[in-house]
Amino acid sequence: MTGLIDTHVHLDFFDTPAAVVMRARQHGVAQFVIPGVAPAAWPALIAIAEAEPDVWIAPGVHPQAAGQWTRQAEALLQDILAHPQTVAIGEVGLDKQVNCPLDQQEQVCRQMIALAREHHLPLLLHVRRATDRLLTLLREAGRGELTGIIHAFSGSLETAEQFIDLGFSLGIGGVLTYPEATRLPDVVRQVPADRLVLESDAPDMTPHPHRGRPNHPAYLPLIAESLARIRCWSLEQTIQITTDNATNLFRLT
Ligand SMILES: [Zn+2]
Repeated sequence: MTGLIDTHVHLDFFDTPAAVVMRARQHGVAQFVIPGVAPAAWPALIAIAEAEPDVWIAPGVHPQAAGQWTRQAEALLQDILAHPQTVAIGEVGLDKQVNCPLDQQEQVCRQMIALAREHHLPLLLHVRRATDRLLTLLREAGRGELTGIIHAFSGSLETAEQFIDLGFSLGIGGVLTYPEATRLPDVVRQVPADRLVLESDAPDMTPHPHRGRPNHPAYLPLIAESLARIRCWSLEQTIQITTDNATNLFRLT
C-alpha cells in the first residue's frame, strides 16, 4: 500500500529523530520533509536526511529568524540547495506575531522567493496575520512562477483560492481533526483535490484526541482519516491522492 508523506515535520526538534521516523513508518508514514527554520538548524537537517532513506529537506529562514540572514548564511544555503535531498525552500514567509520587524521579514522573504525561482524549487510558506502582504510578495514574482505549500492552512476559502491561483497547495494539519473546527473542513471540501497535502508540523499542532501532548508524525493518519470523512473518500483513496500530490510537488520518484 502507498505510504503517507508528511510534508512538514520538524524532525530536528526531537531528541531521537531515527526513533520518531521508525514509529511513524509503523503507522504508515513513508516519507518526510523537514523544514529548516534558521541557518544554525540546516546542518542537523542534512545529518538526519543522510541517515534515513525517504527523508527530504527544505532549508530556509523562518520569519522569526530573519535577523540571521547574512551573506554567510546565503552562501551556505546556496550549497545546501544543491544537496540531492533538498526538495524545497522553507519554511519562509511573514509572521506579525514574532519579534522581528516586518520590513526585515519581507526583505528575507523576497530573497527566498528569488532563490526558489532560481533553483526551480517549491516554497513552504508560513504566514500569520500577514496574509495580504505575503500574497502581494508572491504576486510580484508572477503567476505560474512559483509552486509550494501554504503550511498549516486554516484561512478562508477566498484566501485558499488566492494561494491556489498562485500555484500553491494547502498543507492540511491537526486543525482538521478538531471537533470544533468548521471553517477548515468547509474549505477542504471545496478546493481541488490535487491541491491538498498532509502535514503533522510535529512536535506542534497535535491532532485530536492527543491535544495537550507533543505531536508526532505517527499521528498523521488521524489527519488523513478526517480528510477522508470530509471528502467522502476511502482512506486508501485519501492516501493515494495526497501522496501523489506531494510526490508531484516535490518531484519525488
Ligand atoms: Zn513548521
